Amino acid sequence: MIDPMLNLQPDDEHNRLLAENVHPAEWHNPTTDGRYNLVVLGAGTAGLVAAAGAAGMGAKVALVERQLMGGDCLNVGCVPSKAIIRSAHAAHDVRTADRFGVRVTGAVEVDFPAVMERMRRIRTGISPNDSAKRFSEHYGIDVYFGSARFTGPDTVDVNGSSLRFAKTVIATGARAVVPPIPGLDEAGFLTNHNVFNLTEQPHRLAVVGGGPIGSELAQTFARLGTEVTIIEMADQFLQREDREAAEILRASLERDGVAVRLSTRVDQVEPSPDGKVLSLDTPNGAQKITVDEILVGVGRTPNVEGLDLEAAGVEYDRRGVRVNDFLQTTNKRIYASGDICLPFKFTHTADAASRAVIQNALFPGPRKKMSRQVIPWCTYTDPEIAHVGLYPHQAEQRGMAVDTWEVAMSEVDRAIAEGDEEGFLKVHCKKGTDTILGATIVARHAGEMISEITTAMAAGLGLGGFSAVIHPYPTQTEVIRKAADAYNRTRLTPRVAGMLKHWFRWTR
Ligand SMILES: Cc1cc2nc3c(=O)[nH]c(=O)nc-3n(C[C@H](O)[C@H](O)[C@H](O)COP(=O)(O)OP(=O)(O)OC[C@H]3O[C@@H](n4cnc5c(N)ncnc54)[C@H](O)[C@@H]3O)c2cc1C
Repeated sequence: MIDPMLNLQPDDEHNRLLAENVHPAEWHNPTTDGRYNLVVLGAGTAGLVAAAGAAGMGAKVALVERQLMGGDCLNVGCVPSKAIIRSAHAAHDVRTADRFGVRVTGAVEVDFPAVMERMRRIRTGISPNDSAKRFSEHYGIDVYFGSARFTGPDTVDVNGSSLRFAKTVIATGARAVVPPIPGLDEAGFLTNHNVFNLTEQPHRLAVVGGGPIGSELAQTFARLGTEVTIIEMADQFLQREDREAAEILRASLERDGVAVRLSTRVDQVEPSPDGKVLSLDTPNGAQKITVDEILVGVGRTPNVEGLDLEAAGVEYDRRGVRVNDFLQTTNKRIYASGDICLPFKFTHTADAASRAVIQNALFPGPRKKMSRQVIPWCTYTDPEIAHVGLYPHQAEQRGMAVDTWEVAMSEVDRAIAEGDEEGFLKVHCKKGTDTILGATIVARHAGEMISEITTAMAAGLGLGGFSAVIHPYPTQTEVIRKAADAYNRTRLTPRVAGMLKHWFRWTR
């Protein structure tokens, strides 16, 4: 039987094997002298990368996890969400196959329990990478299960074992914010923590929050056949993103049958014989909707509770542990990485930050600055919305004027052939130059495409250079070359154009 504290339901073969990998029932914490070069608190992406990197260099490392190794990403985040998103894509593609001249006769049925079982199988299949066995046997790391708590500036307690460290990394992550909506607790609700435990499909679902998690899951559940209402207080989804991108997402959600409620607040939740009744404050006045389940995705709050950070002299606030550009906390032996301290809460930023922490905490010499990193991200809706670097308003706040080069996906042959014309590329360059400050891509595979621009930014390549890069035809990434061509055409000043005219007249 799976320990109920692990929050893994149902108790099936997949979850039992997952638990065996990421929190084995028979695990005995190590008994050593308790002195370490590095003690890592939390075994999510940030903790695993820091621990494996340091141990790989020969450091003596302890890794402490209170629940499931792999953290949110493996267990209740990226992996399960992307697995069910794939099922939702399949359902959508079959339903809309007639666009491609393919007639599907008969009803398209989604077998929700099978979708969730596939997700659990995939999650378990990936889990050996993050397992206690791998980290202890392959990397030689002392893996402790239990809650970590500071007992002094260089000591941590785990279930009564005292670990003394030269350096430590706080990588305890974040969890879903629960908004103070009257009646919500009593009515019961889902977050990312338990939504992937579902085995029965909710017939009617309210998704509260139109950020990346809410948008991805709203579209997914709708495509799987649930009646979804998404409620967002702001007047656009993905508030951080380009407004046109968010508008495309809104239209896409509506096409999927999602009832979109922007500029709307949930004031109260009440139980009724027919379900959970949400009282909404909408631009058209007070309204009520009734649903079977409520999924909350309104933001993330850092896991600082219980760590006794005061005992170690580590300062924190509601956004998390305070770090400098080198990811060092107010105790110079103690670093932090991942969702506990970063404004960009992604697996790849947790990974990048932990690589920087290994360099900064364990070795003398040049130290890595987080502000130097070029950070992309993607919301995996359909179409995907990917971004890297600055938005124009951020560049302007830093005193940089911006030129934006925009190409619609409807100008790209492969996108047209595939019926993926919706979307665009916008590349923001320093005014009058081809220095890329940031870019947004809205396209079916935007998450794959953004890496080309990220590579260019990291390598200091300008937009103009993409004209000389041969892209296989036809691919959707040709959109980037088209933006480069647009930039290069502007370099043909009237004077140069005049000179060329003379040259061709002379050489005719
Ligand atoms: C639904 C969803 C989808 C997502 N999709 C994506 C995506 O597609 N791409 C992407 O890049 N990011 C995605 N994310 C974000 C990503 O999951 C996180 O950014 C990433 O997991 C952060 O890693 P972390 O190591 O900082 O924290 P976590 O993964 O949260 O790990 C922290 C670990 O610390 C442990 N811990 C906490 N307190 C203690 C303590 N006192 N003692 C011991 N252990 C402790 C926790 O149990 C946990 O295992 C998604 C998140 C969610 C919720």
